[in-house]
Amino acid sequence: MIRDHSLLNKLYFYTVKCQNVGRIQIGKLASTMASNQAHHATGLPAGIIAAAIVDHSGVTGPFYCWCWLALAAGVAGGTAPDWLEVAWWSKRRRLWITHRTLTHWGLGWIGLLIWSYKNVPIQPWYAGLIGFSCGCIMHLLADWPNPLGVPWILGRHSLNLWNSGRCDLLVVALAWLAAFFVGDHVWFHGIHELSLMHFVRA
Ligand SMILES: [Zn+2]
Repeated sequence: MIRDHSLLNKLYFYTVKCQNVGRIQIGKLASTMASNQAHHATGLPAGIIAAAIVDHSGVTGPFYCWCWLALAAGVAGGTAPDWLEVAWWSKRRRLWITHRTLTHWGLGWIGLLIWSYKNVPIQPWYAGLIGFSCGCIMHLLADWPNPLGVPWILGRHSLNLWNSGRCDLLVVALAWLAAFFVGDHVWFHGIHELSLMHFVRA
């Protein structure tokens, strides 16, 4: 009987442990998935902003090829700070660097954007770097409000507004709003911006 009890106790202990581990894993996965979805969804508006910047620099190329390159690179850059942390060459695909450190360094990506913008008239393929850095900056802006924060200059800074994965809809809406304003400013000389202002005031 005593044996049976200890066996039951063990069984109970392991069941509770498994449930808790499962819950934690699922919780972790859910929050990662949600913020990943936000990064995927903000990649396209980042690409549109990058294409507008390339167009503004006057380097568009035949069939706007350099703008298209910036757009594609912006989409890739939207998730880059996270996938650049993964050791893709290893079997276990662990992180080779601490999460949200060098790959999330704001000053680095902003510097790359400025440097690429200056160089794009000399070498048009810099349009790809403009796109990529725009995507990365958008990624950092989406990461900024949650408690872990982002190292813009040196130490991490957080806006502490919500946890990762929360308010994704707001993040995506703000990204599209930014793309609308930048795109409208470059391609339509702010016509839609003005009519939107009139609509809001009315
Ligand atoms: Zn991130």
